[in-house]
Amino acid sequence: MDLLEYQARELFESFGVPVLPGVVATTPAGARDAYEELDSDVAVVKAQVRAGGRGKAGGVKLVRSPSEAESVASDILDLVIKDLPVTAVMLSPGAEIAAEYYFSILLDRTAGTYLAMCSVEGGIDIETLAVERPEALVKLPLDPVEGITADVAGEIVERAGFENEDRDGVTEVLQKLWTVFRESDATLVEVNPLVKVASGDILALDAKVTLDENAQFRHDNWGDYHETSAAVDLERQAQELDLNYVKLDGSVGVIGNGAGLVMSTLDVVERAGKDMPGQPKPANFLDIGGGASSTVMANGLRIIMSDPQVRAVLVNVFGGITACSDVAQGIISALDVLGDEATLPIVVRLDGNSVDVGKAILTEANHPLIQVESTMDGAAAAVAKLASERN
Ligand code: GDP
Ligand code: MN
Repeated sequence: MDLLEYQARELFESFGVPVLPGVVATTPAGARDAYEELDSDVAVVKAQVRAGGRGKAGGVKLVRSPSEAESVASDILDLVIKDLPVTAVMLSPGAEIAAEYYFSILLDRTAGTYLAMCSVEGGIDIETLAVERPEALVKLPLDPVEGITADVAGEIVERAGFENEDRDGVTEVLQKLWTVFRESDATLVEVNPLVKVASGDILALDAKVTLDENAQFRHDNWGDYHETSAAVDLERQAQELDLNYVKLDGSVGVIGNGAGLVMSTLDVVERAGKDMPGQPKPANFLDIGGGASSTVMANGLRIIMSDPQVRAVLVNVFGGITACSDVAQGIISALDVLGDEATLPIVVRLDGNSVDVGKAILTEANHPLIQVESTMDGAAAAVAKLASERN
């Protein structure tokens, strides 16, 4: 889960990392008020989106009056940066930058450890620096228990080549950033730029934090960080129900057992819908795994049917250890549980263990929403047609 800069800034502040004040605004008039509240001649207006490179995209601008704050905020609030519409800006007092550095701590999945990266050449695109001048980027694997002690921080600043006079200040900030990383169960804490201002103080001028969602249960306050989009809402509900669900953009809900089967079902549905009006596509990935009990089936159907984009649902199950008869029973009881909540046509394709009994159960139930198909291609064509017609 990625934080917006202002959220990461607050997190930094709560751990004593030096940051500038920040005031968030969602309208140009709000930005004018924020400028006045900050009471600084020069302020910076920064787009709040979950993307880097905001500066280059015109999303970071200095302003020198309330009216300039208002008009610049208006421009920035109209921007779309890397496909993300800017819905908020943060205003901070303008910093007088003497030097820009780079620092990050991240989970290095390949090496199976945490890694600190640091450079005295900050403010620039770090990927570029890593490629063009790798020697300017210090990388130090971290002992996850020890983290960044005074000694480790000392080694980082020395290897990165900080001036003597800056070492103590930077060392202190690096240790605090490690505390942020550890206490917040983060997988990334990146400060680009970490700056020295005219007074000689070291400040985190930008803040990028990714939290490990698996640690959500340890953090009561993470609810505030959640993105509020319909897609993310559905994924969150699914997560609470322990479902393996990924929202996609189409109109055909897909439920299957086993990730491989579900993936190939997505392909087959996409192909079946290609030549139909509206080109129906898969609306989601949902793997209900081995069990496929009626509860899991009901939860899955409920999530899929609450996606307003969905027009028809495909249940594609291959009975291995799970018998198709149990799956069929699961579907029928799920529809009982859902009652009026279930409104969309459901195409069911069963194969494998006890398929005949499974099909017989569905035929006998004669449920108005259920249509049984015997092949995967046939089921995909049927569900795509239903979605296309109901578009
Ligand atoms: P990013 O482009 O998304 O990484 O956004 P940053 O917050 O890092 O800002 C981009 C650049 O704008 C920084 O590297 C700084 O050079 C500059 N910048 C940001 N805030 C200030 C400020 O308060 N004063 C000055 N002079 N420059 C700033
Ligand atoms: Mn930055």
